[in-house]
Amino acid sequence: MVNPPYTDFDPMTIESEVRSYSRSWPTVFTHASGSRLQDREGRSYLDFFAGAGSLNYGHNHPVLKDALLSYIQDDGIVHSLDMTTDAKAELLRALHDLVLVPRNLDYKVQFTGPTGTNSVEAALKLARKVTGRETVVAFTKAFHGMSLGSLAVTGNAAKRAGGGVPLGHVYRVPFEGFGDPSLSGIDLLREMLGDSSSGLDLPAAVIVETVQGEGGVNVAGAEWLAALADLCRQHDILLIVDDVQMGCGRTGPFFSFEAAGIIPDIVCLSKSISGYGLPMALTLFRGELDVWSPGEHNGTFRGNNAAFVTAAAALRTFWADSTLEKQTAGKGEVLEAHLTDLAAQLSASGVAARARGRGLVWGLAFEDHTLAARVSSAAFTRGLLVETSGSSDEVVKLLPPLTSTDDELTEGLAILSDAVRAVAGTPRAH
Ligand code: PMP
Repeated sequence: MVNPPYTDFDPMTIESEVRSYSRSWPTVFTHASGSRLQDREGRSYLDFFAGAGSLNYGHNHPVLKDALLSYIQDDGIVHSLDMTTDAKAELLRALHDLVLVPRNLDYKVQFTGPTGTNSVEAALKLARKVTGRETVVAFTKAFHGMSLGSLAVTGNAAKRAGGGVPLGHVYRVPFEGFGDPSLSGIDLLREMLGDSSSGLDLPAAVIVETVQGEGGVNVAGAEWLAALADLCRQHDILLIVDDVQMGCGRTGPFFSFEAAGIIPDIVCLSKSISGYGLPMALTLFRGELDVWSPGEHNGTFRGNNAAFVTAAAALRTFWADSTLEKQTAGKGEVLEAHLTDLAAQLSASGVAARARGRGLVWGLAFEDHTLAARVSSAAFTRGLLVETSGSSDEVVKLLPPLTSTDDELTEGLAILSDAVRAVAGTPRAH
């Protein structure tokens, strides 16, 4: 590929101050394949960021690329609002046959606008419409998106402040592991729901991430999630699982809630559902909840057929059997062992750190909140992309593509250890 004729013009001079990743990773990326990106200088970077969870199958996967290229070559429909197209029909068939039926999930599929927040807005709106109630229960450190409805259920104070208007109709409850270990959000919610004078209006829904990605890789246990689902059922409250970041195999199974044996009423999917990094989102819900009237909720880009083509190809390539799920579990164990050891070594040498995660999402949380950003920056200069998350960006978050080879995982983890050593002065080389 020929580079465009670069002049003295610095594109950053017209890009808004709101940009962020271009500041953390100050280079110009040009190509990407599998788990690697390349920049204009020809430097290669291992990608343990994976488009914030949008590239679970890596960059430009050859099978998905071929499907997309031949669809475009054949003048397939690219934009279609919610008209029926071959591409949409094929995707619905693949979703039905490979994802929903094998899991006994009787969900209807709503195509929303193409981003995670679009899926969450549809879920919240539907839950309020079905129940006729206003309040939604959300958790500490939750992240659900940047538009006003999803921002209202998001925890982060700085992001909430950006809304510029009151963000209401939400009752906030501690997520598992938030604050003092004796603080149980489920017990609190149970008590509040159980007493008609508690002052809590019966909520329409509870919205939860099974692993909080942006909130700092906070993992809810299977028991906690099952207790939450039980409580919702007892009080006729809809359970929404926001699987935008943890779905599509990130934690192992296709849906992150499968391990807890629960069946949410509504599920939000986006990020890796197209499999190729193309914008696409879905909201899934139990058939009885389909009370929408035609066009009541809409959006111009619900019919991104290029994304449907790669999504169907991704489902057929990766979800026709349990190979990927098993591989993710195995690779997850490698990350767990390495990070747990690294955290123990750091803590033993006076730099308190903890490893936490599930499947192929892992976090290295530092007590000293300045360290994670410095580790991420040191990793970048060594050729590894890892981002930070958590209230104060105190967690280094690892999201390698699920398709990363064992060698790539080993290489990335070695770079991470080296970056940690450079920043924290410890521990010894692995
Ligand atoms: N929900 C979760 C759990 C997310 O992680 C994100 C994005 N990080 C969103 C919703 C919002 O997705 P988008 O940025 O595509 O609107």
